[in-house]
Amino acid sequence: MQGSCHCGAVTIRVPSTPEYLNDCNCTLCWKLGTLWGYFPASQVEFSGAVRTYLRSDMPGAQLSAEFCGSCGATTNWRMVGEDAPDRMGVNMLLFDPADLTGIEVRYGDRRNYGTNPRHHYRDPTIFDGAGANA
Ligand SMILES: [Zn+2]
Repeated sequence: MQGSCHCGAVTIRVPSTPEYLNDCNCTLCWKLGTLWGYFPASQVEFSGAVRTYLRSDMPGAQLSAEFCGSCGATTNWRMVGEDAPDRMGVNMLLFDPADLTGIEVRYGDRRNYGTNPRHHYRDPTIFDGAGANA
């Protein structure tokens, strides 16, 4: 399955539909505008150049966000560091919504991580092609 940024300079190919979609509410995901699907990083193929953002407001950030240097669309995050696991978040908003219809959307509560024992800020929904908040 293939997606692209808004201008088309960056394309991403993932090996399958994601197991689920994650509409995370942490400050980073919120401001980047994302709906994550997770894959082994070794199985995600890119064409085109991305730029990288490593947050500096938290010590020891474990992932960097990547985005198209032309249109600015967030494309993915990548684990950083020596022993980084083979895991990547891909922004599924860059894919055809029709390809995601029927997939469960989870609402990860990273904004209140540590204080919300459910780790979700609302119950799961099913992606209907119109948007994650259906
Ligand atoms: Zn672009």
